[in-house]
Amino acid sequence: MVGVALTSLLILGGGGVLFLSILETRHVVKLVAKQPSRQTWQVLRWLMIFFLCGYLGVLGLLLLGHQALLLPLTGAIFFFGALFVYLVVKSSLTTMRQLLAARLDALELQQAKETAEAIAQVKSDFLAMVSHEIRTPMNGVIGMTSLLRRTSLTDEQRDCVETIRLSGDSLLTIINDILDFSKVESGKLDLEIQPFSLPLCVAEAIDLVTAKAQAKGLTLTADIAAAVPPHLQGDITRLRQVLVNLLSNAIKFTEQGEIAVEVQSQGCNQLLFKVKDSGIGIPRDQQACLFEPFFQVDSSSTRKFEGTGLGLAICKQLVNLMAGQIWVESAVGQGTTVFFTITAQPAIAADLAAEPTKLITQPWLQANGDRPLIKILLAEDSVVNQKVAVRVFEQMGYGIDTVANGLEVLAAIQQQVYDFIFMDVRMPEMDGIEATQRLRQMPLARSPIVIAMTASAMQGDREKCLAAGMNDYIAKPIRLETVQATINRWLPPSSLSSSEQTA
Ligand code: ATP
Ligand code: MG
Repeated sequence: MVGVALTSLLILGGGGVLFLSILETRHVVKLVAKQPSRQTWQVLRWLMIFFLCGYLGVLGLLLLGHQALLLPLTGAIFFFGALFVYLVVKSSLTTMRQLLAARLDALELQQAKETAEAIAQVKSDFLAMVSHEIRTPMNGVIGMTSLLRRTSLTDEQRDCVETIRLSGDSLLTIINDILDFSKVESGKLDLEIQPFSLPLCVAEAIDLVTAKAQAKGLTLTADIAAAVPPHLQGDITRLRQVLVNLLSNAIKFTEQGEIAVEVQSQGCNQLLFKVKDSGIGIPRDQQACLFEPFFQVDSSSTRKFEGTGLGLAICKQLVNLMAGQIWVESAVGQGTTVFFTITAQPAIAADLAAEPTKLITQPWLQANGDRPLIKILLAEDSVVNQKVAVRVFEQMGYGIDTVANGLEVLAAIQQQVYDFIFMDVRMPEMDGIEATQRLRQMPLARSPIVIAMTASAMQGDREKCLAAGMNDYIAKPIRLETVQATINRWLPPSSLSSSEQTA
């Protein structure tokens, strides 16, 4: 009797433990919900329930005294119990391996993502530095050349200066192309989505290449289908860049005939652009590689066409950013048509508000009569660039004071009231950003207009300068016309001579 009671107690205890195991297994099933071993654990759970029933069966037989059935059932429970333990151990091992592998995959993915981000950051820092370092001496070359052109020169000297200017300009174009390409590559180029006029964009692109087309006697036409919405939401600068690249190619590789731009609507906010020429054409077997960076059909050292082979690669990147495709149809000797699509929502004309005017009315400028006497301070550490800027300002009729870093700016504005400060960004001791921030906190009788004049011309540099409290931004190399236009922008219209106003 004692034996039966003890055995019943043990079976009930075992059943309780089994019941707890069934509950716990529910957590395991949840944990491995996304693993292949999920089903095995479900089967094991059902086995446990089956065992629990077996335990209760044994208890029932024991209490009813069915000795004959009791022994085989107990044996079966022993056998399946051992099998069950084996399956649990085996499944645990498999599950642990799967969980570990999944965790490792996630870690590797995370690590790869972090590495890619770090590489992109290093690349963009490197680009910003290279861009800055190249633009600084280029400012000397281009600035001095534009000044030299305004002096009296012999025909031979003028010819040399023109060559230096053209070379400087094309070097700058190449630098800009390489920077653009690398910026998109490292994901640093964002489109500026704003309402714009499509006919204006096409007209501006055509304007930029008209002189070259006329020089070769080529006709340029544009046709925008009536179904194309005239106003779109998008990045006008980048769309114009694509069109100018394609038009430049068309002109470069065409000796006679016509170049035509066509724009059609394809519905669903998709537009199709075609740039058609009657030029030399592209061999069929070369067409697949056209959009690879640095690819040129004739890459021999004797090739007669200029270029780096980046134009189409940049077009492809930009078109892809605008959710479109680019492709080419061409036959040797018959001409080439480059097609591209973009996705752009229509905009309403009212959204195309004129650029917010940056004019601030400064009473001191108005009080000064016809042509205001403007005090300008230049902060620039490079001696060559100081020279360039001083001459440029002299040519415009302004005398300027010069300092070499931000600390000297802060000292100078305590001695003298300045209307404009042209501020380099990278300078030793204190940079232009910090100098502007400090200057803006100083209790000055009259706050100067601060204009960044910097070789930091990567995306975001302008915003950084404005955020620091600067009013405007000029990228180096500087040109007299740009500096004059910037000064004019900040002067009240009444202070400009009529010729400047029309300019
Ligand atoms: P870059 O545009 O960088 O100044 P590029 O014009 O040589 O130099 P891409 O615009 O990328 O470079 O064009 C690559 C090549 O494709 C060209 O060198 C030329 O061989 C071929 N190509 C492009 N457009 C035309 C075209 N309209 N007709 C004939 N060949 C073309
Ligand atoms: Mg090109």
